[in-house]
Amino acid sequence: MKYKFVLALISISLLSGCSNQVKDINWKFWESSSSDQINEEANQDQPPEENLEPEEKPTEVNKPDQEETEPNEDEYLLEEPFFTVLNKEKVIENTDNILLVVNKEQSLPADYVPDDLVIPDVSFSFDGDYDKKYLREEAARALEELFAAASEENIELFAVSGYRSYETQYGIYNSYLKKWGEEKTNAVSAIPGHSEHQTGLAMDVSSRSAALDLTEQFGETPEGKWLNDNAGKYGFIIRYPKDKKVITGYEYEPWHLRYVGKEVATYIYEEDLTLEEFFDRAIKQ
Ligand SMILES: [Zn+2]
Repeated sequence: MKYKFVLALISISLLSGCSNQVKDINWKFWESSSSDQINEEANQDQPPEENLEPEEKPTEVNKPDQEETEPNEDEYLLEEPFFTVLNKEKVIENTDNILLVVNKEQSLPADYVPDDLVIPDVSFSFDGDYDKKYLREEAARALEELFAAASEENIELFAVSGYRSYETQYGIYNSYLKKWGEEKTNAVSAIPGHSEHQTGLAMDVSSRSAALDLTEQFGETPEGKWLNDNAGKYGFIIRYPKDKKVITGYEYEPWHLRYVGKEVATYIYEEDLTLEEFFDRAIKQ
């Protein structure tokens, strides 16, 4: 599959700072070398994204530096450009697009609350009916599949923190500000509106072997390794990979899963990309 070309047609509604436009985009995913063309169609909207961590450590993003990925041939060109992730701050308009990108430069409206939040049927690290148990329905169903597959391989995962409202993020961010000041806070916490958890598409996951904590150490556990290798099959990516801070703005977070759908997640995993790099590549195609 490495050398196969995949084409995806995606309708993306983008939000750019001030325009409410939606663009229909023809997308191609390609894999490094050959020229088989592919395809599939996907319809999504796309806003920006970013994230925060659970309770205690939210993260923030700086500006991604992109690498140029060169799609080589004309035949791989997109019909029209898509959107630029790197422009100054934009407020996402197509908030329901599962490929939205929330990061330090793109934010969700303060009043955005997904309208299809449900509690996935998985094990949680805590009891009670809290907002953080929720995910958008498509992501929730995918998380159930992921956890079930893990369980079949004797990998026990626990969901720790999913949806987080703007208001909750506001409170978290503020408490960090008081404690640590702006610089340190921005290194670990997202400004309200910039947390990927507000999308309802992100879930932090841990294991008993990591004391159900959200720490880098989780990435070294059997559960963390399994998750890294298998999340893509179920539509999730490790949103903040190791050594990609310069692009995502966040430290490595092996626990933070972001739902993007199986096709995109598999592509990102196989090509070792971040979500920002993925869109950058698509734009340059
Ligand atoms: Zn997170």
